[in-house]
Amino acid sequence: MATLLSYWEHQTFLHGFDVVIIGAGLVGLTAALHTRRLRPAARVLVLERDVLPNGASTKNAGFACFGSISELLEQEARGGTAALLQVVRARWEGLAELRQLVPDAVLDYQPVGGFELFRATETELAERCQAAISYYNALLAPVIGTSAIFRDASSQLTGLGFAGVQVMLENTAEGALDTGRMMEALLRQAWQAGVTVLHGCPALALEPAASTVRVKTPLGTIETEQVLLATNAFSRQFFPNLDVQPGRGQVLVTEPLPGLRLPGTFHYTKATTISGR
Ligand SMILES: Cc1cc2nc3c(=O)[nH]c(=O)nc-3n(C[C@H](O)[C@H](O)[C@H](O)COP(=O)(O)OP(=O)(O)OC[C@H]3O[C@@H](n4cnc5c(N)ncnc54)[C@H](O)[C@@H]3O)c2cc1C
Repeated sequence: MATLLSYWEHQTFLHGFDVVIIGAGLVGLTAALHTRRLRPAARVLVLERDVLPNGASTKNAGFACFGSISELLEQEARGGTAALLQVVRARWEGLAELRQLVPDAVLDYQPVGGFELFRATETELAERCQAAISYYNALLAPVIGTSAIFRDASSQLTGLGFAGVQVMLENTAEGALDTGRMMEALLRQAWQAGVTVLHGCPALALEPAASTVRVKTPLGTIETEQVLLATNAFSRQFFPNLDVQPGRGQVLVTEPLPGLRLPGTFHYTKATTISGR
């Protein structure tokens, strides 16, 4: 038992958990809520290393997206059509589940569409994507529930101020949401559902025992039946052989720019995303 804690603290916050989830991002918190739904009697603990959930879930761009045409082409070329359909379905159904869990008004969900921009230097890619519009509308219709998903929105480029951009394709089924509000709502729901969330309490190591796992933390060791690792890019800490490479992501936020009106979420040069929020 950790010397820092009183008997009462230890018994309440570190003892008797059936499931310990490491990481309080989107994955960790939704997994905790699902676990309680599937096993209402299970005692569930979420460990978060930082004061706030400190990962991609609150540091992302807030795009509620499932694939621009160039992404779909790339993914289909890499993994085949069946794998592409599987991943798009997972993204689409995941978004639907999230919107069921947290109401649109709380998420500030806005069905503004997702736009992909192509510069004059990307004519060949733009043409391939334009040619694929009807193919992906038909392919994804059973997943999305409509065949009016993608369209050429280049005629709306005028006045948006994208220098050198010639082609703009729209995914009408995408939107934008506020990930700060999303995570706040999930944290509130987790406590309401009977999940304990400890902030500033990193899992330092996992030690498998006979029928349990010991989770080492700065507060002491927690013994539990099951551990779910939801640490995203940091998973190699526990499984050094996993091929997970953290990638640097960056989100820049400006003051509102006078005259700039971007009615949606925009993908640019594949890796860059721009939102008009
Ligand atoms: C810059 C950027 C922009 C993005 N934009 C979008 C977007 O617009 N739309 C979209 O759908 N997706 C976007 N993504 C991807 C999306 O945000 C992630 O896929 C998603 O948030 C991952 O959630 P997660 O819970 O797996 O991980 P995370 O949110 O990273 O959560 C992992 C948590 O584990 C905690 N942790 C780590 N190690 C430990 C430990 N040892 N003990 C305890 N806790 C620990 C971390 O502090 C963190 O809170 C973006 C990602 C980035 C980086």
